[in-house]
Amino acid sequence: MGLAAPGRGAPRPARPPRPHVIAASCTRLLLAAVLLTACAPEAATLPAAPSPAPLVATPLPTAPTPTPTAPAPSPTRALVTPLPRTPTPAAPRYDLVILGAALIDGTGAPPIPDAAVAIRAGRIVAIGGATDLSYSADTPVRNLAGATILPGFVNAHAHTRGLTDDELRAWVRAGVTTLRDLGGPPDEVLALRDRIAAGGDPTLPRLVVAGPIVNVPGSFSTRVYGVNPGLLLVEGPDDARAGIEALASRGVDLIKIAVSGRTDVSWAELSNEELAAIISTATARGLRVSSHVDRASALRRAVEQGISDAAHSPRDPIPDDLIDLMVARGVGLVPTIAVYEGLAIERGNVVEWRRLIQPVMYDNLRRFAAAGGLLALGDDYGGAPGLTLGMPMEEIRHWAAAGLTPLQIIVAATAGGARVLGLEAELGTLTPGRAADILVVAGDPLADIEALARPVLVLHGGVVVRS
Ligand SMILES: [Zn+2]
Repeated sequence: MGLAAPGRGAPRPARPPRPHVIAASCTRLLLAAVLLTACAPEAATLPAAPSPAPLVATPLPTAPTPTPTAPAPSPTRALVTPLPRTPTPAAPRYDLVILGAALIDGTGAPPIPDAAVAIRAGRIVAIGGATDLSYSADTPVRNLAGATILPGFVNAHAHTRGLTDDELRAWVRAGVTTLRDLGGPPDEVLALRDRIAAGGDPTLPRLVVAGPIVNVPGSFSTRVYGVNPGLLLVEGPDDARAGIEALASRGVDLIKIAVSGRTDVSWAELSNEELAAIISTATARGLRVSSHVDRASALRRAVEQGISDAAHSPRDPIPDDLIDLMVARGVGLVPTIAVYEGLAIERGNVVEWRRLIQPVMYDNLRRFAAAGGLLALGDDYGGAPGLTLGMPMEEIRHWAAAGLTPLQIIVAATAGGARVLGLEAELGTLTPGRAADILVVAGDPLADIEALARPVLVLHGGVVVRS
């Protein structure tokens, strides 16, 4: 979305200064012949931060501050510059102030109770305790008693091919304001991304697009789906370099590769030389590389060659030393457990899948999170039947069943997703300067994760898209 630069914070004393101080209490199985592969982000297990100081509004930072995945230890974390309380009686005017029972900023810090967030020019300007936020009498206010304010969610693994605008809007209305499309015909997905970016319609999601999945002839991609426009087949390092250069010149946002297909067959795979050529070329062009992987051995090759994230969890155990290597290199993981369940249901072997594979994927996820790995939430929508447009609750329920806390899940879906997409300076946390992509849900998702499926207000780029 075209987001304006942070506002300037000039109070607008249009009327007698009457600062308000509020105490809040208030597939479509697209199984397109193309998909089926994946990408992966990271999870952040963050240290708990001290309880937040109440808040404050103020002059905006001019630019987003980098990376807030780790909460600052200071108890004044939530503070921006304190408002001059004296001789300036005029309180600032904002485009909108949202008041809720709590605010979870996405960094992993504990929630701020009776919270407020102030928005101007499409950006978050201030967050903190509602009783401390001053604003002009003509500032519009949404007072959502009992609700929880969150950053807009990121689906770090989805496929948009063939979806209508109304279907795309279902994600945004659910609070998923950003999607990463990990594989589709470049003509189609790049055109969609560009049309959305140019149109400025905030009811459509921000798209980050990979274009075709890069693989070799005879790989699982071609054997399962056939040669199709959603694949780029390369043979040898020189061909791989040329292919990536061409994609970069075409404007893709990242490169998606597939290293392994299925665990039970031996099909052709990208060689280490081809992987190295792809990743070095992509890196030189400023592009991240996300990889489909099904096996830990393939994940190891991909990590050693330098991928940015794994778009799926392997179906076999990830060795601890490989988890350590991923953490050390900042390689993300997007488990997409839900898509595997969907495929198992489609193939009629879900009972066996739940007995044999699901526990392994849960264990991979738990150990990766416990090690402080970078997790991002994604469900591989479009890769299997049974996944729903909107909040990826199937995937969220798997993570909860695996033992992740609601806060870990929320951090992965917000700050984690932003980091895996390389957009952490722009979105993913409720931090002054970031885009005002905001999801407000009824209830407390830390007590009941199902609250994430109860949106009451969604903003995209500061514009209300669900109310
Ligand atoms: Zn996929």
